[in-house]
Amino acid sequence: MGAYYEYAGNLHVHTTYSDGQALHAEVARAAEEAGLHFVVTTDHNVWVSGCEGYYGRVLLLVGEEIHDVRRQPQANHLLVYHAETELSPHAAQPQAVIDATLERGGCCYLAHPVEYGSPLGPDLAAIPWADWEVVGYTGIELWNYMSEFKALMTNRLAAVIYAHRPAWGISGPFRATLRQWDRLLAQGLRVAAIGGADAHSNTYSLGPLRRQLFPYTYLFRCVNTHILTPEPLSGIFEHDKALILGALQAGHTWVGYDLAGSTAGFRFTARTGAYEAVVGDDLKRTGALILEVQTPQRGDIRLLCNGRVVARASGRSLRYTTADPGVYRVEVYRTYQLGRRGWIFSSPIYVS
Ligand SMILES: [Zn+2]
Ligand SMILES: [Zn+2]
Repeated sequence: MGAYYEYAGNLHVHTTYSDGQALHAEVARAAEEAGLHFVVTTDHNVWVSGCEGYYGRVLLLVGEEIHDVRRQPQANHLLVYHAETELSPHAAQPQAVIDATLERGGCCYLAHPVEYGSPLGPDLAAIPWADWEVVGYTGIELWNYMSEFKALMTNRLAAVIYAHRPAWGISGPFRATLRQWDRLLAQGLRVAAIGGADAHSNTYSLGPLRRQLFPYTYLFRCVNTHILTPEPLSGIFEHDKALILGALQAGHTWVGYDLAGSTAGFRFTARTGAYEAVVGDDLKRTGALILEVQTPQRGDIRLLCNGRVVARASGRSLRYTTADPGVYRVEVYRTYQLGRRGWIFSSPIYVS
């Protein structure tokens, strides 16, 4: 493997241009405070131009979350990056938005594809992905922090507890999302994984409880997307924007719950003969296949092939040798806040 550089960012953030509470500069400041390298705003159905650039050490990019506002019940939120134009007029046909994004050199992900609403309010209804026949999208938002929080609010008591102690409840992508991901991969689709905050910093009113939940800085310490790039970020906006986009398009990504321990330093590689692959890559076997996982701290590491666990290790590394082709991906779990939490979910390596 050539040298790869690693960066962490958040890809799902709302500003005052839709239903968020912060301006772009405030989002960037919160990202910097949380130690992120990049952050991408994704306001609902509005492509905001003129805000991209470096704010301090953080690169802020603009994307968009597109959906058909007339559709009832609501479904099919699509995260679009680097389309560089307003595509929401096509929102009624998700495939048209995906096609137009790709034509423009961008990439896109199905946002919070599985959702469980909360009975506590009409604005807490589930907004899942419904049109599963679409193709060509880059991946799925495997883990959406605020979406998981919504699912935890099954009643008022739970809402009050988790509003004050979210880390007691947050535990990983929904099982149904993981299963759906494996089904898509089994169809031969390439589907990368990203994770996002879906940060709004909204105030929720629950009877006597009225509290500004989840400041952006807190959310940017939770579910993030880590990327691998072939060159380091240089501080030059256009160069670095292209590197981040390239990493997303290549699926050089993993989802990290950094609150449970920084996931920086995680690596998943596959080798055969003289060839080596990282997350997102294709690899053609020329002999035995050696898969290796490294984690920055101890965890329960699981290597999956075609949706089935083929190797497990408790510690900071896993090594597995096989002759079998397949779609390989890694999940790592850790104990945090008295519970078992999802920690790292890698994009696949596709071995033929
Ligand atoms: Zn959404
Ligand atoms: Zn959103």
